[in-house]
Amino acid sequence: MKKKDIEYFRNLLNDRLEELLSHGDDTVSGMTVPKENFPDPTDRASLETDRNFMLRIRDREHKLIKKVKKALQRIENGSFGICDSCGEPIAIKRLKARPVTTQCIECKTKEEWPGKRILRPSQLPIMTPLRGCAKF
Ligand SMILES: [Zn+2]
Repeated sequence: MKKKDIEYFRNLLNDRLEELLSHGDDTVSGMTVPKENFPDPTDRASLETDRNFMLRIRDREHKLIKKVKKALQRIENGSFGICDSCGEPIAIKRLKARPVTTQCIECKTKEEWPGKRILRPSQLPIMTPLRGCAKF
């Protein structure tokens, strides 16, 4: 990978990390705002759902922060943009869309769909009734 590209991704990842970390603070302070004594059980239920939702978001953010940090480490040790599975360079286009990725699209697809060929509904053969087959 070119030095220019490395710089691009380093900046991108640093920005992403900063954004995630500052956002994380917001979520935490939002959660500590006391919202107790809801007389309506429906409100209580939705409050619980909100809280679970927040926790799930936080969990996802936490995982993403880890991934971004790892990607930055890979930039430092020179393994950024190399597929973990096959050792081939990952397409820049893919990295721009998902800079934390550690696998090229081929390996990722194989991992998610081992031995499977994915058929979208639009690719499925259309079942048309057979004309002239009165028997059926
Ligand atoms: Zn690969």
